[in-house]
Amino acid sequence: MTAARSWRPACEDAHVLASPGAESTVAEGDELVAFLYADLSGLNRGRAVPLRNLERSLRTGVGWVPADQAITVLGPLAEPNPWGSLGDLRLVPDPETRTRVDLWPDLPPLHFMLCDALDLDGEPWDACPRFLLRGALERLERETGLRLWAAFEHEFVLQGHSPAPPPAFSMEALRLAEPMGTQVAAALRLAGLHLENFLPEYGDDQFEVTVAPRTALAAADAASIVRELVREIARRRGWRASFAPLMRPDGSGNGVHVHMSFRDADGAPATHDHERPGGLSLVAGRFAAGVLAHLPAICAAGAPTPVSYLRLVPHRWSAGAACLAAGNREAVLRIPTPTAFGGADPAAQARLELRAADGACSPHLLLALVVLAGLAGIRERLEPPPVVIGDFYSLPEDELRRLAIGRMPGSLAEAVDGFETDAVVQTAVPRDLRDAYAAMKRTEIALLEASSDEEGCARYARIY
Ligand code: GLU
Ligand code: MG
Repeated sequence: MTAARSWRPACEDAHVLASPGAESTVAEGDELVAFLYADLSGLNRGRAVPLRNLERSLRTGVGWVPADQAITVLGPLAEPNPWGSLGDLRLVPDPETRTRVDLWPDLPPLHFMLCDALDLDGEPWDACPRFLLRGALERLERETGLRLWAAFEHEFVLQGHSPAPPPAFSMEALRLAEPMGTQVAAALRLAGLHLENFLPEYGDDQFEVTVAPRTALAAADAASIVRELVREIARRRGWRASFAPLMRPDGSGNGVHVHMSFRDADGAPATHDHERPGGLSLVAGRFAAGVLAHLPAICAAGAPTPVSYLRLVPHRWSAGAACLAAGNREAVLRIPTPTAFGGADPAAQARLELRAADGACSPHLLLALVVLAGLAGIRERLEPPPVVIGDFYSLPEDELRRLAIGRMPGSLAEAVDGFETDAVVQTAVPRDLRDAYAAMKRTEIALLEASSDEEGCARYARIY
């Protein structure tokens, strides 16, 4: 490879700047570091600085515009929004999230950090979803002594991958995607994350990536990072990784399943109690009750597109019913069955799995609302929901009522109504964030009103 074709620096900055013909040579300091804001849209947006300016930019960040957070993924800015043309922000990176992945010989590294949004006095911007999550977790810890751990499982489709998709879960599918899987493992390692599984999924060209649990803010950060890494790796193969909820209305859904467990002040697992239904501790049961009580608001955040609701119906193994179940993949909240051999500890494995979300969500907003709802359940000492065992679709009405098996919101409009009227959202989510989010979602609903479900799926499949 010739120097001219390579992105790699041929010499040091100073030399490049001084040498004739320097304009055709890339220097080390030219490497771009993106300052990314994981915003309400579920995308990471931002701007980049050259590596040579990084130290300076770490302190005060880069400029940003409040109304950027009200831009719908379909294009137009939501109107009205709380900010209009006014105001300024700084995106200040959290060095903990620094990700530099250098896997491509003919391309600069993928280098970025996730940012907090601050006002010009350095105070947290109250419409920043990352601050909302941080505040919710601090509140949970202060009021209950519990720390939340979480892991986001992501499903995605490799668009343009194989003309004739191989069988579900097959070795053929796994090998055809190579070196993607191995590069995902490497990229996650370089990002300080731990790949648990990379697998071909049920749908055509559908895959899944799971990472090890982390403390909850780091887990939401990891969700934003994983999407970026997977997209880049696919992009470099000439494919597109789409995390959109559905590629087509009758296709397999791409879920984001959020696994959550608690640890007490000593770091000991606090989700398990073998004497209680489902092996779920009382506090985790109350948390689950809070989540179910505020489900429409949580769905507005977790399943944030009109087409998300085509996925949230029975028999899609996504979330066909609003209930807490042991094992059953049709329930919105599942207690995954623990492994009971090989010395595996049930207390350490105990967790709740929220199955309603998809890859269009802001992981930070979603987890913040889940924590606030769960904390309300603990604070109000709600009765833990019945733990449903076995198939529930054939149960008679009175059994459905006894087991508190409710229905999922039927549309984004219904979920957004629930979000706007939700008591926890109204008291714990700053007004600007609330209003901007609802305005964005209502704009998206209006923009897609005249589109068929097929068109809606195809639109989002190109975005997420
Ligand atoms: N693809 C399913 C969903 O939309 C999940 C299947 C599974 O259990 O992994 O959530
Ligand atoms: Mg899966």
